[in-house]
Amino acid sequence: MKEAEIRPQELFNRYLEVVRQDIKMFFADKSQFVDVECPACGCNCQEFAFEKLGFQYKICKECGSLYLSPRPTSKVIDHYYQEGKAVKFWSSNFYRETSDARRKKIYRPRAELVADILRSYSKTNNEVFTDVGAGFGIFLEEVSKQDVFQSVIGVEPAPNMADICRSKGFQVVEKPIEAVLTEDVQANLVTSFEVLEHVFSPCDFLKAINKIIVENGLILFTTLTISGFDLQVLWEHSKSIYPPHHINLISFEGMHRLVERSGYEVIQITTPGKIDLDIVVNAVREDPAIKVPRFVRHLIEKTDTKAQKAFQIFLQENNLSSHIRCIARKK
Ligand SMILES: [Zn+2]
Repeated sequence: MKEAEIRPQELFNRYLEVVRQDIKMFFADKSQFVDVECPACGCNCQEFAFEKLGFQYKICKECGSLYLSPRPTSKVIDHYYQEGKAVKFWSSNFYRETSDARRKKIYRPRAELVADILRSYSKTNNEVFTDVGAGFGIFLEEVSKQDVFQSVIGVEPAPNMADICRSKGFQVVEKPIEAVLTEDVQANLVTSFEVLEHVFSPCDFLKAINKIIVENGLILFTTLTISGFDLQVLWEHSKSIYPPHHINLISFEGMHRLVERSGYEVIQITTPGKIDLDIVVNAVREDPAIKVPRFVRHLIEKTDTKAQKAFQIFLQENNLSSHIRCIARKK
């Protein structure tokens, strides 16, 4: 998989430009910002990391997570996700243009993973599957095709997306996860992909999911981790560290702490990312002024593709990619 297939550079840059316009519109009033503790381990020992687009990122001295603080309150964030132009751009242009590639390269393998997880770890009946942040319902479709659940349900707060999921025949709980009740859904396995980095409180988010999981049920989620290669190398130049969207970049160590204090037992935390090196290659090609370590420059300019592929596999196998995946069981 290449970055260009799921995140074409020109389209992504247009999207980031819309984000910059949104920031002036929605986040000018800094009195609506609050200081927060480390979203992973809860420690209040932070130091300044860098400023980006007027927002401050801090690093946790305890677990190494990178996070936005002060950050907009959840009310401001929710309002932005309902009204922001960038959010609409993402769902109408960005997502649509990359949806075929995403289905094939991302959603189908994930649905196969869900079936594998059930075979390996499920102690309950495989009755109900729920995807939190169901979007266009592509993942719901792929999980249905696996034919391992009796019902497949989406949780999706955005009315237009919830409608799309319903038009594909899925039951949808049209609420933010924090508002979903145990009467709405009780799932044997819940998934949430690329949501955790956006939310005001990752711990509250995971606890809210915990409430709708049956006893011994499972959660599978993915997000970005600051411990990974492309984020470490590019740091403040990384397009993945982008306020106000990506505000929690939990470290590998911090992820264990976060999952445990949110009411789960960790089964497996890994970083199966495939595009770290490709992201660095593209970033440096686009902006040659970005300073990367001498070895990294050698790796991306002078090394053959066979070595580069082997290096990416090395990152995957040693939990050094920026794409992190967690499988856990409700305690
Ligand atoms: Zn921490």
